[in-house]
Amino acid sequence: MTQVYKFGGSTIRSAEALRSIANIINSSQDLSVVVLSATHNTTNELEEIAAAAVRSIDDAQELIENLLDKHYKLTDDLEITEIVKNDLESLKEELLNSVNDVQRMGGLNAQLMDAIYSIGERASSAILFHFLDQKFHGKQYQFLDARDIVVTNNKFSSASPLFYEINERRSLIEKDKVYITQGFIGKDLAGNTTTLGREGSDYTAAILSWAISAEKLVVWKDVDGIFQCDPKVYSDVKILEKLSYEQAELLTEKGAKVLFPRTMAPLRERSIELIVKSTFNPTGAGTKISLEESDGAIGITTRLDEGAMIISLLSKEIFKNFNHQSFLKLLEQHEVQAQVFEHSQSVFAVSIQPEDKNRVVSLFAKNSL
Ligand code: ASP
Ligand code: MG
Repeated sequence: MTQVYKFGGSTIRSAEALRSIANIINSSQDLSVVVLSATHNTTNELEEIAAAAVRSIDDAQELIENLLDKHYKLTDDLEITEIVKNDLESLKEELLNSVNDVQRMGGLNAQLMDAIYSIGERASSAILFHFLDQKFHGKQYQFLDARDIVVTNNKFSSASPLFYEINERRSLIEKDKVYITQGFIGKDLAGNTTTLGREGSDYTAAILSWAISAEKLVVWKDVDGIFQCDPKVYSDVKILEKLSYEQAELLTEKGAKVLFPRTMAPLRERSIELIVKSTFNPTGAGTKISLEESDGAIGITTRLDEGAMIISLLSKEIFKNFNHQSFLKLLEQHEVQAQVFEHSQSVFAVSIQPEDKNRVVSLFAKNSL
């Protein structure tokens, strides 16, 4: 069985976290590719650097120094600074050049932004690769530049993969090695760096799983799986044991931020199972996404739509255990102004004032989960 792992940025906050990730990788079986996001908040910081570059080179340079310091703090803690230094310094050079390009061009564009974005994933993956290569034995670790495989069109900042081209390059991933690579980034046919859209690392992991026909993709997060709704709003909420690809797509389409929406398509095409679980609880079952459907309530999602808050209850078949008429009455009793927004076999959604969001989510949860 071949596996692909993806670690999100929220799990890469400290040297401690990187150690947990390295341990998970090193004790895995049949692992072929590890896809990494940038370290926690780095993509946002790169956006700030790009925005600063439009105003003043000095401001941008100061932010670049801070970003580098943050990464050196990690490498110092992991005792690999000497080995990674060359990589980090050349990424810094590249970032400074891009920042100068922003000034020279008199502003930012999506192509320059993608070049700037790519620094985050390239830095985190270089750090993880050298850490594994130096301190862990028993597996053959190999650094892979994702751009050598993930060929995309040139729609910068929301590029689409060119699956034919990607398939042609699949032999770059050889058996018996564990490749450490970057999520989010790709390259167009002219060789320019592109990105798949914010939060796109999940999609990279799905694309590479597809390319090598992996059996399983594990997306490692800082939560135990996919919750039925925001546990900060309703604490009694459960983790979903399983979902079908379609159900997972429905969740993301209706506003759940748990996975990048396009992730499921390549997985479904090759029946690759997707597991979402926590780096901090590796033996937990997590949520399994495959052909198997979940019965009953899937979850409650929220999203803004032209200033209104849309709250959706999703279920395999919503009306078996949910009475929407009495729910609407309940909202009325709580003095919530609500309008029915969608009403179908598997979705019941209301449109409300944004400030009523938490109240309505809890009422939904109490009555349906
Ligand atoms: N680092 C990128 C972002 O934060 C991609 C990702 O993490 O999925 O949007
Ligand atoms: Mg992310």
